[in-house]
Amino acid sequence: MPPAIKRKKGEGQWALGYREPLNKNEENKKNDDGLNVRRRIIDVYSKTGFDSIDPADLRGRFRWMGLYTQRKPGIDGGKTGALEDEELEDRYFMMRVRIDGGQLSGPQLRTIADISTRYARGSADITDRQNVQLHWVRIEDVPAIWEALEAVGLHTTEACGDVPRTIIGCPLAGIAADEVIDATADLREIHDRYIGSPEFSNLPRKYKTALSGCTAHCTVHEINDIAFVGVVNEAGETGYALFVGGGLSTNPMFAQSLGVFVKPEQTSEVWHAVTSIFRDYGYRRLRSRARLKFLMKDWGAEKFREVLEKEYLGYALPDGPEPAAPRPRRDHVGIHPQKDGNFYVGFAPRVGRVSGEMLGVIGDLADRYGSGRVRTTIEQKMVILDVPEENTEALADELAKHDLQVRPSTFRRQTMACTGIEYCKLAIVDTKQRAMDLIDELEKRLPDFDQPLTINVNGCPNACARIQVADIGLKGQLVVDENGDQVEGFQIHLGGQLGASFGKKVRGLKTTSAGLTDYVERVVRKFDAQRTEGETFAEWV
Ligand code: SF4
Repeated sequence: MPPAIKRKKGEGQWALGYREPLNKNEENKKNDDGLNVRRRIIDVYSKTGFDSIDPADLRGRFRWMGLYTQRKPGIDGGKTGALEDEELEDRYFMMRVRIDGGQLSGPQLRTIADISTRYARGSADITDRQNVQLHWVRIEDVPAIWEALEAVGLHTTEACGDVPRTIIGCPLAGIAADEVIDATADLREIHDRYIGSPEFSNLPRKYKTALSGCTAHCTVHEINDIAFVGVVNEAGETGYALFVGGGLSTNPMFAQSLGVFVKPEQTSEVWHAVTSIFRDYGYRRLRSRARLKFLMKDWGAEKFREVLEKEYLGYALPDGPEPAAPRPRRDHVGIHPQKDGNFYVGFAPRVGRVSGEMLGVIGDLADRYGSGRVRTTIEQKMVILDVPEENTEALADELAKHDLQVRPSTFRRQTMACTGIEYCKLAIVDTKQRAMDLIDELEKRLPDFDQPLTINVNGCPNACARIQVADIGLKGQLVVDENGDQVEGFQIHLGGQLGASFGKKVRGLKTTSAGLTDYVERVVRKFDAQRTEGETFAEWV
């Protein structure tokens, strides 16, 4: 029996008997499993065309297969929210290719490059959850794209929707000389057993998993729904600490440690149990309260652990240590040793924007200088593995010819941007181009600035680019300029720090898009002039 927990009534929790759908989303999920749309796309919609697509599939279940309609070009941010979906959306799709753990072989990278060129007008963005997003995809081409992806072991299943999303992992898993544990096999097991399984194809909301044994803590465990973090216990055994209930968006919350030690062989079982708790006890009545963080907030870590052990696992997990503190920069940019004597070379495209052609070039370089293996990171960056030491500088020079920097400025290294108004139906402002211009200009104006500083750019109040945990978080919205006109701009959040504090929203602190560079330059100059030795931006602000 579960412990006596005072549960709120009427939150739509299945475990408490609320099986009847309490909103439209829940009704759609009950009417038909999102995974079933795959067959309809292959057998029907790809043959009968865009206009034949059932709206409940188009704007609902298509997500279960990693497909969203993209925004019609030229519709300004002021119309977002005012127009109906059918007025805002184009007849093309964004397709998210899952890259669990960010691990890509040479043939996989080349396949994505080829798909981008043939079916997606050359588009390709590295996302901040290690995926690649393609744009301009036609419904007619989706089956051929899936066939090509699946032939090399890739897919788009559950890349979006109320399901377990891409499992993020350290891109250097099994490779970095200083890792605590190689999480590759455990990540793979969860993926192979549960992604695409009807057991978890109807969760209350999206569900984000991170799994890593990296000393940099590059998978940002603090803001995932469930995260396994490599630790060594008192007996000297390696395993994982378990964090549950992190998430940003509105009401951001950091994940809480359950204080347990999970042995590697228990990982998928524990993941299954926590995910089952979310499915059964998660709040389904209001979508705004449906993420696991709200249940975690109400239960607390102690009760969550008790339910996990008694009601789901049937055994107690031992207490375990907390992970060591992260490094100041949680990334893998630069040239660093692998455990096998080779080196990895991490480089920085600007805000994740590449192209099919560029992916092809990266694949060629990975073949020529390494073993062909490439990784994506959650900072929208990439890494080429297995480079002999004597080849690292030649590779860095080749990458630089394509504007892929191995020793980038702080601004190029630590600026991220979400999709924004170019393709996203929820966007209010442009993000990618704005952020790329910002990087270029800051590099010119502040060429010597070398302190860690994250700048995250969102196109709307959502949290796709993690603005709440950035040093400078920029939330896209319309603002009033000096002439009294409504123009694109940003609400500014300052001093966010993963696991410690969310960025402060200073009332009235906004900038127009046109004034953004000047604003950021002023703040950075002030920080640089006033900071004491070792003081971070979040401590200074
Ligand atoms: Fe779209 Fe907003 Fe997410 Fe950016 S933050 S990708 S604009 S929903």
